[in-house]
Amino acid sequence: MSENEVLSCVGLGRRYGDGPGAVVVLDGVAMSVGRGESVAIVGASGSGKSTLLHLLGGLDKPTAGTVRLLGRDFSTLSESERGHLRNESLGFVYQFHHLLPEFSAQENVAMPLLIRRMPREQAMAKAAEMLTSVGLGHRLEHAPGELSGGERQRAAIARALVTEPACLLADEPTGNLDRHTAETVFDVMLALRQRIGTSVVIVTHDPALAARADRRLTLTDGVLAEA
Ligand code: ADP
Ligand code: MG
Repeated sequence: MSENEVLSCVGLGRRYGDGPGAVVVLDGVAMSVGRGESVAIVGASGSGKSTLLHLLGGLDKPTAGTVRLLGRDFSTLSESERGHLRNESLGFVYQFHHLLPEFSAQENVAMPLLIRRMPREQAMAKAAEMLTSVGLGHRLEHAPGELSGGERQRAAIARALVTEPACLLADEPTGNLDRHTAETVFDVMLALRQRIGTSVVIVTHDPALAARADRRLTLTDGVLAEA
């Protein structure tokens, strides 16, 4: 592994079921993400993008191949070691924000820090700083239901990056937004992770958004290739 490498996989396969009826979703996927790099993964709906991101995040087990995060092979770790490594080193953003409705934007963003036992005052201050850097400094007290779709996704990005993870995994983070809002949210995400020095793997089916990443990979028939 190069010392610059944050996340990688080799020979990665994921198959559902066995025998002739088996569905092969990924077949020998290899990729490597360098420190601070942004990589976009594009592919048609159903091509296996979410499956790949789950495997890269250690949320699902491959049927072949290995995933390494910061030089550690997921398959050699226990469930709790894997969970610990994931919590320490990864951030996740999904198409749907998954913010907790009964908490304010600031509390939602502070949550990952509170879980790590950071004192509340410090966690809330850090959350306010993160929300300010995604343009939501005036929305700290708002509940998710009082935010627009784009604002909610920006809050979800602030929450995913508040712990300054080594890598952010984003699965169609702007998939529910109109074009203009999607571009704004995408740019905010790329700018913030650049400031923190976080690598990012972004799944999108939008070539125009993918063009904003450092590198583009296309998933077709279970195989990942440079676009
Ligand atoms: P994408 O995110 O690119 O739209 P997914 O990774 O969600 O694609 O799904 C890829 C393929 O894997 C799809 O054909 C889907 O039907 C199949 N698939 C996903 N989960 C399962 C499962 N639990 N059992 C069987 N097939 C599945
Ligand atoms: Mg998907």
